[in-house]
Order: sequence, then C-alpha cells, then structure tokens
Amino acid sequence: MILPDASLGVLGGGQLGRMFTLAAHSMGYRIVVLDPDPHSPAGLIANQHIKADYRDRAALQMLGDECAAITTEFENIPAESLEFLEQYCPVRPAAAAVRIAQNRIDEKIFIQEHGLATAPFAAVYEASDIEDASSGLQPPLLLKTASMGYDGKGQIQASTPDEVRFAFSQMGGTPCVLEEMVDLEREISVVLIRDVNGQTAVYPVGENSHDNGMLATTVVPSGADAAITESAISMARQLADAMNYCGVLAVEFFCTRQGELLINEIAPRPHNSGHYTVDACATSQFEQQVRMMCGLAPGSTQLLSAVVMTNLIGDIWNNGEPAWQHVLNEPGAHLHLYGKREARPGRKMGHINCLADDVDTAKEVTARIRAALKI
Ligand code: AMP
Repeated sequence: MILPDASLGVLGGGQLGRMFTLAAHSMGYRIVVLDPDPHSPAGLIANQHIKADYRDRAALQMLGDECAAITTEFENIPAESLEFLEQYCPVRPAAAAVRIAQNRIDEKIFIQEHGLATAPFAAVYEASDIEDASSGLQPPLLLKTASMGYDGKGQIQASTPDEVRFAFSQMGGTPCVLEEMVDLEREISVVLIRDVNGQTAVYPVGENSHDNGMLATTVVPSGADAAITESAISMARQLADAMNYCGVLAVEFFCTRQGELLINEIAPRPHNSGHYTVDACATSQFEQQVRMMCGLAPGSTQLLSAVVMTNLIGDIWNNGEPAWQHVLNEPGAHLHLYGKREARPGRKMGHINCLADDVDTAKEVTARIRAALKI
C-alpha cells in the first residue's frame, strides 16, 4: 500500500489529470505531472511539473525516480513509455491494458474475442481493403481512424466504396475501422474500478447524449431498464477481468432500437461520463484512481443524488466569459472549470453537475442554466 505523503506520477496534464491531482492533494499525496505543455491544467496545480515529451527517456526516468506509482490520464501516451516506467514502480493501469485501448481495431478484436458484441466492423489498413470491407457491411457506415481519434474527431460518414476511398484519403491513409452506423435508442456508460486483487466496484450507469460526436450530457440514473443495466455492468466486468485491469475503466455502450447492447469503446482512465461522481457519489472517480494506483480498496460508489452533468465547450466563450452567476445562483449546481488559458470552439473547458432530488428536477435546473448560458 502506498500511503499519503508519497509522490504519485501522472502522464498527461489535461482536465482529467487536474481533477486527479485535486483528489490526490485532498488525500495528502504529492503529485508529479509529465506534460510538454507549460500551461497544462494539471501542471499548474501539481507539486512538480516535468515539461517534456512523453517519449523523453531522461524525463521519464526522473518521473520514475520521484514517484511511488504512476498513472495516465489519456490513452494516447506511448505504450513504450509506460513499459519503460514499469521498471521503476507500479504503473496502473499497466502498459498492456492501455495499449489495447489505443487502437480501435485491436480494441474491437479484443472485445469480440471475449464473446462481447460491438457494432459490425471491418479493418481498413490500406485502400485495397476497402472493397472487401464495405461488401460485408450494411450501410450507412462510418470510417474512424484506428488511433488518436476522440470526441468524434477522426470519423467520417461514408457508405459506398467510392465514398469510403475518399474518406480514407482524407484521413491520410492511416489504418481505420469501417463500422455500421447503428440505430441508437440511447448511449450508456459504465465506470468501473478494479483493484490489484481483482476486486471490482461499479458506479451507477450513466446515460449520455452527444453533440457532433462529443459528449454533451450525462444523466444518472439512466433510463435504461434493469436487464440492460445488469448486462452492461457484467460486460464491463468481463472486460476488466480479461485485461487483468487495475484502475478506473470506462466502457461506452450503444443500446440499439433492436434491443442489442454493443460496446462502442473503452477508456483506460476516468471518463468524462464519470464526472458526475465528483459531486453526486460517495467517492469520486478521481479518488478511485488514486486508491487503485496505491493498492488500496475501492471506495464506495454509492449515488447520493440524482444528477445531470453538462459539458462546457469553448463555443460559449464567443462573447467573452459566460455569465457564471446563472450557475452559481442555483443551489444544486456545481461549476467545474479546468483553468485552460484559451477557449476554442470544440474545446472542453469545464462542466456543471446539477444535483436534485430526482432526475426530472435536475433536468429542469439544467435546462434553465443552458438557456441562460446559451448552450
Ligand atoms: P466514438 O468516438 O466512437 O465514441 O463516437 C462518438 C459518438 O459518435 C458516439 O458516442 C455516437 O454518438 C456516435 N457514433 C459513433 N459510432 C457510431 C455508430 N457505429 N453508430 C451510431 N452512432 C455512432
């Protein structure tokens, strides 16, 4: 067990790293962030910020020497860097687990190999794969880059082989997944915690809505029925066990109008759809990340209140700083801003958690705030 006053390392200094740092600080740990950006949200509040590239061996060595355990806040950290760090101290989640989530093709194959369902897909490594890939799939189709895609970036709707060829060249000919667009009834996600001994804890399932492929809101409790909820939790557990995972794992699901439950993707870290846990649960997903990397048991995942989480995207800064009094005057609303210096369209700047006695009231308060902020 790694106890307070120890130094913990995090690769990546974005908002997830910042909220991890806030949780770790309140528990009495020291935090070292590695991120090349001198203004990274987590770097600004960490005890130490190593400003270097994620492949910089001297910087990684410094991190490894300083820290009792290391975690990551985004999946595009080179897996080789995580492997390198494993010689110094526990890295949780391990490089092997992060590696699976870095590539949509590997991830979907891994999911299917464990008997779990994804939307029908085919891998497109090069243009010559497109004819065969398209012929086995039912349009409409989506072409998604296998790596580095997030928040709906790196995906193009393309159904005929000609459209797919055009989309593939627009993606720069990088390996892609060609996937059937499914008829969505709703999207849900499971945030799961698994400790070094394989003990798991699961948060209540969240229901997600997206704008342009980017998460917009998460509502908890979700509208999914008990059977779907149980299946999603059991599928998430199976994946975490199969990966011998240690840490916080998010699993995103599609619920189709045909009654299927399909895994869309997994994230080997706390997730935007788990931000509601910070205000609405007994233990936040970020405290769980600290607990898991330190070899401690999962904290309680009990939901203390109905909640709606709303993302704040850079677009609402178009006319200057938003009128925050509309959030702060609502007793049940909690404002979280990430300290990013520049608001850009499509950039995640913060979020609001609206807590209320029931979901309908939380939605009403959220609607009031959205109208006032023009979200
Ligand atoms: P992703 O980056 O794969 O998580 O996709 C972002 C969002 O795009 C998802 O949360 C869905 O709202 C939508 N989306 C992605 N893939 C599909 C699909 N195969 N069918 C329907 N909607 C999809």
